[in-house]
Amino acid sequence: MSVVNLLDFDRDGLTAFVEQLGEKRFRATQLFRWIHQKGASDFDAMSDLAKSLRDKLRERAAVQSLPVISEHVSTDGTVKWLFDVGAGNAIETVFIPESDRGTLCVSSQAGCAVGCRFCSTGHQGFSRNLCTGEILAQLWHAEHQLRRRLGLKEGERAVTNVVMMGMGEPLQNYAALVPALRAMLDDHGYGLSRRRVTVSTSGMVAMIDRLREDCPVALAVSLHAPNDALRNDLVPLNRKDGIEALLDACVRYLPAAPRDFVTFEYCMLDGVNDTPELARELVRLVKGRVPCKVNLIPFNPFPQSGLVRSSPERVQAFAAVLLRAGIVTTVRKTRGDDIDAACGQLAGEVQDRTRVHQRLVHAPVKVVRRMAPMQETKA
Ligand code: SAH
Ligand code: SF4
Repeated sequence: MSVVNLLDFDRDGLTAFVEQLGEKRFRATQLFRWIHQKGASDFDAMSDLAKSLRDKLRERAAVQSLPVISEHVSTDGTVKWLFDVGAGNAIETVFIPESDRGTLCVSSQAGCAVGCRFCSTGHQGFSRNLCTGEILAQLWHAEHQLRRRLGLKEGERAVTNVVMMGMGEPLQNYAALVPALRAMLDDHGYGLSRRRVTVSTSGMVAMIDRLREDCPVALAVSLHAPNDALRNDLVPLNRKDGIEALLDACVRYLPAAPRDFVTFEYCMLDGVNDTPELARELVRLVKGRVPCKVNLIPFNPFPQSGLVRSSPERVQAFAAVLLRAGIVTTVRKTRGDDIDAACGQLAGEVQDRTRVHQRLVHAPVKVVRRMAPMQETKA
């Protein structure tokens, strides 16, 4: 008989499983609380479950997290785990502590098929989707390990926010994503409010509409360019729907969203998408149409990209154009630099099953001005 991983279920799924075992529905809630609130994996420790149920669970089920390959702690407190997901694939998860919150950056796929030019994961190609249990295991492991390490008391949380901004395109793994989000939001699970769970997407229009119906959480859209010509080049998925359809999907999403704005992420690439003219084009594109905040992300370089981080002056000049137009704009602080835990540096290990690497290496990016020589700048 195959063993079922209980991390694969949201509470409805666990209820169905418990009923299959011939048990009452409310047992699922008890079990869910043991697993997600207390971090228990040993059924014998679940003292309020009847012995007969514990016996059945021991035979049929397990709480299977992911094997940790490595863990690195940055000088700024950022923690990065590398998890083994089998067959030579590994994924990364990053915890970013701040004074008022603890954010966990969670992966949704081993690799990514979208193949954005500026993204290390994209350069690796796509291996496979993670299952719900593998997405939730990242949170389960981080939360309970950090709680123990930080000596938190019952009811205190290490992870207060989750961002689906690790490896992979979450909306290309929708079926596994939604139960994982539901377990994060569930009061008997992690109890995170919808505004503290963010799905970041490179912009899959049809799936943004489905998320609005099924599980509306905070939405971040990785825009990176204000027109189709440039976005087609940086984010190849744009060729399917285009920016206009993407913005329309954002407008449709907002009435259901827990926040009254969409976050547009914009990775600042020197000489490629960071000119004041493009900033003005961005203003014309979104102003009065999509309530939004723009988050400028300093590009985190990696050797194969051939791209350079915009200087702090260029980032500031770009931000100034947006701010003058009344668009709330922030510049993301880069965290965990010393352990390669920053955005887009999450490489993990992927058995490359696509030709994405060849495509990216052989088609050079268009530059709108001469590129400065490769240099490291800190924003
Ligand atoms: N696939 C999703 C979520 C994962 S990527 C998405 O694209 O939104 C999370 C964020 O990191 C995205 O905004 C992405 O554009 C950004 N990112 C990717 N590579 C980066 C890099 N090298 N430097 C800075 N940000 C990067
Ligand atoms: Fe995939 Fe996001 Fe990286 Fe693009 S930026 S390749 S969508 S993970």
